[in-house]
Amino acid sequence: MTTTNDNTNQTYLIRGADIVGAGRHDMVLQDGVITQLGQVDAPSGAVVVDADGLVALPGLVDLHTHLREPGREDAETVATGSAAAAAGGFTALLAMANTNPVTDTAEAAEHVYDLGQRAGLVDVHPVGAVTKGLAGEELAELGLMHRSRAAVRVFSDDGKCVHDARLMRRALEYVRAFDGVISQHSQDPRLADGQACCHEGELSGRLGLPGWPVVAEEVIVARDVMLARHTGSRVHVAHVSTAGSVEVIRWAKAQGIKVTAEVTPHHLMLTTDLLADYDPTFKVNPPLRPDKHVRALRTALVDGTIDAVATDHAPHARHDKEHAFAEAAFGMLGLEQALQVVNTVSRVDDGLDWAAVADRTSAAPARIAGLGDQGRPLQVGEPGNITLFDPDARAVVDAAASHSLSRNNPWHGHTLRGQVVATFLRSRATVLDGKVIS
Ligand SMILES: [Zn+2]
Repeated sequence: MTTTNDNTNQTYLIRGADIVGAGRHDMVLQDGVITQLGQVDAPSGAVVVDADGLVALPGLVDLHTHLREPGREDAETVATGSAAAAAGGFTALLAMANTNPVTDTAEAAEHVYDLGQRAGLVDVHPVGAVTKGLAGEELAELGLMHRSRAAVRVFSDDGKCVHDARLMRRALEYVRAFDGVISQHSQDPRLADGQACCHEGELSGRLGLPGWPVVAEEVIVARDVMLARHTGSRVHVAHVSTAGSVEVIRWAKAQGIKVTAEVTPHHLMLTTDLLADYDPTFKVNPPLRPDKHVRALRTALVDGTIDAVATDHAPHARHDKEHAFAEAAFGMLGLEQALQVVNTVSRVDDGLDWAAVADRTSAAPARIAGLGDQGRPLQVGEPGNITLFDPDARAVVDAAASHSLSRNNPWHGHTLRGQVVATFLRSRATVLDGKVIS
């Protein structure tokens, strides 16, 4: 797909949006930045976007996206994943390293970065592998990836845990020099091996599925925060799924340990009960958990123990997902519905206000990933990275309508609250009237 986005120099007047942090104003976007805020007259030639009733948020930043290119372009490409991201209100994403080949060299990182630039819909920042080939045996070229054009700052073997404590320690020490961060997939492989596909509990016993106990996550989170304390480095806990992990992270933050954490939309809303019909759409790693964990995750997102919402968008081709539950691939889509899910569950149930939503979906992830021009407050002179969201819309999710090449959408048929109406990347519209501009 070639994107012909010819509105680079277009001026936009966003009329009457409820701007997070600023109140209800007009906003002019020009030459990449916000040039005016307040009550303004339309500059000549400006495209006027009626934003009455819409909330304006800083463009969303996803710390955890699987784009599948190179290697599995039948499931997703950088271009299609970028379109799904823009449709979901994102202006930047971090593309996980478990592609084929793995993003474990400077060249591989630059390749993904360049594909993102070419697609032009969101800033695509490659995540570098921590270990060569994700094999867990030898550190990858962390320094070279950082010094590459892709300027990699986030490293992860996601899909696998950096399980060797000595390697994890060395990785943490290595990235400290450039304020990098190790994003850990916390799964002790002895307590939850590759077969473990369902929360270990009453239901896994009844369904006869190999269980994934919460402690397999919690012991790694506990170990890693101690390694972060020892090294003075930053560790990031990917896709937190248990109440015990939340407790450990809360404790670690109170000690001043440099730990951050993310939660996925699906772990905020869906529970393990959905597995009763063995529908592989709901097979994900870490697995969906019982309600008490879901509630702990929502509380932690509100109180800031969990810093960010990250999608773990994991597209899979039909033939990889349509198997008996135990054999199906792990993962579900997440980019297009992330903000809707946050608006549906956390705002309604827990009173997450818009400033907190902006922090958890944009400012905090940008800060964790070291993206200076993303997650910025919506003020004059700041980059025009903006999402316009209708918080009261009701939308029934249709998996077939996705911009992703894959259809493993756990929200299919759900009515979610809210709808992304427009997205701007450096003042250029990537989505208008809910449609991706390509
Ligand atoms: Zn993971």
